[in-house]
Amino acid sequence: MNMKPQIRNRKYATEITADNDGEEVSIAGWVHEKRDLGGVFFLIVRDLGGFAQVTLHKDEVEKKLFERMKKVPRESVVAIEGEVKSEKKAPNGYELLPERMEVLSEASQVLPLDTTGKVGAELDTRLDARFMDLRTERTKQIFIIRSRVLKAIRDFFDERGFIEINTSKIVSAATEGGTALFPISYFEREAFLNQSPQLYKQMLMASGFDRVYEIAPIFRAEEHDTTKHLNEATSVDVEVAFVSDDEVMKLLEELIAFVYSKVVDYPGLAKLNLNLEVPKIPFRRITYDEAIELLSGAGEQIERGEDLSTSAEHILGEIIGEHYFITDWPCAIKPFYAQPVAEDKNICDAFDLMHPRLELASGSQRVHSYELLKKNIESKGLSADNFEFYLNAFRYGMPPHAGWGLGVERLLMSMLEIENIREVVLFPRDRRRLAP
Ligand code: ATP
Ligand code: MG
Repeated sequence: MNMKPQIRNRKYATEITADNDGEEVSIAGWVHEKRDLGGVFFLIVRDLGGFAQVTLHKDEVEKKLFERMKKVPRESVVAIEGEVKSEKKAPNGYELLPERMEVLSEASQVLPLDTTGKVGAELDTRLDARFMDLRTERTKQIFIIRSRVLKAIRDFFDERGFIEINTSKIVSAATEGGTALFPISYFEREAFLNQSPQLYKQMLMASGFDRVYEIAPIFRAEEHDTTKHLNEATSVDVEVAFVSDDEVMKLLEELIAFVYSKVVDYPGLAKLNLNLEVPKIPFRRITYDEAIELLSGAGEQIERGEDLSTSAEHILGEIIGEHYFITDWPCAIKPFYAQPVAEDKNICDAFDLMHPRLELASGSQRVHSYELLKKNIESKGLSADNFEFYLNAFRYGMPPHAGWGLGVERLLMSMLEIENIREVVLFPRDRRRLAP
């Protein structure tokens, strides 16, 4: 076995076509399947792009090559050199007639998972052997789509003149109160993993950055063990100065439609059996009070001032049937930085973007008055002293601003009709899982 591979003229399985008939190429990848049909032996090699059929006619080849191919365990990594021959019945319309095979890494015999997708496995088993689960077509496609979605988000903001920012994930104070934080030891002090870039993106509004976004992890130490919560998630956070909540809601719905439009034509969607459509914008908007009335009509009683439960979200989703916004929330259940509406200081210019299945994003017009912000922090039972670094930014010229935070995993799972949020994260962190 060579330490350094010498693969001449390597091509991906999907780069080769029947037009390459007669050419010498190499393919390299994993041994997906082996089929011995007596006179012919097929070895299916899988690489990033797809599959190649290696066909060995036993009468024409050296016996040694056949013996080695027969013996090489499934999922071993091999490089195979040979001649392309057009073959209608093979994947991509060709087969490879092998001349040489190098085994670059031999796989152990008992596999933790079946990579052909023929034998299903529990999610926990799949996550335990995630590196191998990612070899299955469906899982691989989820993460290729995730990458496309992230690129679409960046393109969207780039086209609109946004500045991408990176704020610290090690912080001294909670964004919204102390309950859901992971404490870490920071030399001789205690610090926390940030639950949201909220305070920092707002401070940048005082710096004159005007339109910023960040795509980064958020850490929530909540004990929940649900199919829509992670303890480490990825958030798309946006903050815009000199605009109202109405404008950032439009921005949000445009982003959702844009992201869908960049995924609908992707051929890999077929692996997920999805028929994706771009949602129509503008999304319907209902107030919190209207939501409560709709729920009451459906037999679900929510006290005014109470947050919407998961079952309430499902019932509303059933009634409305497409993306929608819930606006005009009671300030009591929204964070201290949400701006009260002019007419009623108990109602805030805050909104949630909902998919019929679950919440995707939360946002608001922000308080930009230093005095009101300080008062709000204290009335939520928090100490203004802990927020001095943040409050300071409001004392020397802070424009009005608005923004939101959108969960990348929530967006993906709703878009791809995936039940469990853990499926759309490479290495999920939840109440029980800290490895791999
Ligand atoms: P929920 O009520 O659904 O638990 P939240 O209102 O606590 O969410 P926010 O603080 O509003 O969440 O965060 C903004 C967005 O970030 C949410 O709408 C969601 O998409 C995402 N998000 C928040 N917490 C989590 C989490 N624990 N796991 C996955 N995504 C999350
Ligand atoms: Mg929320």
